[in-house]
Amino acid sequence: MWIDSHCHLDSSAFDVDRDAVVAQSRAAGVAAIVNLPGHVDHFAQAKATRERYGCLTGYGVHPMWVAGPHSTSNREDIATVRAWVERENPELIGEIGLDFFIPDANQREQEWFFSEQLKIARDFDLAVSLHVRRSQDHILKHLRRIKVRGGFAHAFNGSAQQAAEFIKLGFCLGFGGTATFPQAQRIRALLHDVPLEHVVVETDAPDIPPSFLGTMGSTARNSPVYLPQIGHLLAQVRGIPAGGFAAATTATVHRVLALG
Ligand SMILES: [Zn+2]
Repeated sequence: MWIDSHCHLDSSAFDVDRDAVVAQSRAAGVAAIVNLPGHVDHFAQAKATRERYGCLTGYGVHPMWVAGPHSTSNREDIATVRAWVERENPELIGEIGLDFFIPDANQREQEWFFSEQLKIARDFDLAVSLHVRRSQDHILKHLRRIKVRGGFAHAFNGSAQQAAEFIKLGFCLGFGGTATFPQAQRIRALLHDVPLEHVVVETDAPDIPPSFLGTMGSTARNSPVYLPQIGHLLAQVRGIPAGGFAAATTATVHRVLALG
């Protein structure tokens, strides 16, 4: 059985067939889906999704809503995150992080949101799902300052040295669609080399479609239904049987989220 450690099941891309996507995912061997709404306006929907499908759920404000052309967040949202965490007992905080790739990245505001949400994770002893884009060292700086129990560095794209730093701070590295492409040599080398107990698999659905849905960067809809196929390709990169890879990555999500 597999766990999709990073998914956006509330995305409008699934409005037409969400029930079927979840049913097909289960039938394909996906035992659980980590759902991350990313914006306070989407928390109520995520709560409903959690109740309907039993998703593991993270509350948090995604950096894409903090800065850049789609920014609709304001600082009061932090109190909303804290209130939801207190009331709903989510499995994690996220998706939070820093994205210095987006235009008008407003680094200071992003860093404020990120550090305030790390404090919530610390105060409630919750794991974190991290969005890290062109910001590896800034993220590490905040993680050293505000100690959380660990979590997932989603769609990890850093160097081997940065990977080692994340692992030292209690984080596992998330691999998904990108690593299914033979040309993604650096990420595949990392996936091959990182200690297995620090590897998790993810779709980031509906984003980051894998190689069997088209060329790199295609806009095909990714889905948790594809996680087992993605997992098979990633197991090949590691040179281990898919069953063992599924068991190891599933156990890792249980450990990180303290699911018992
Ligand atoms: Zn995401």
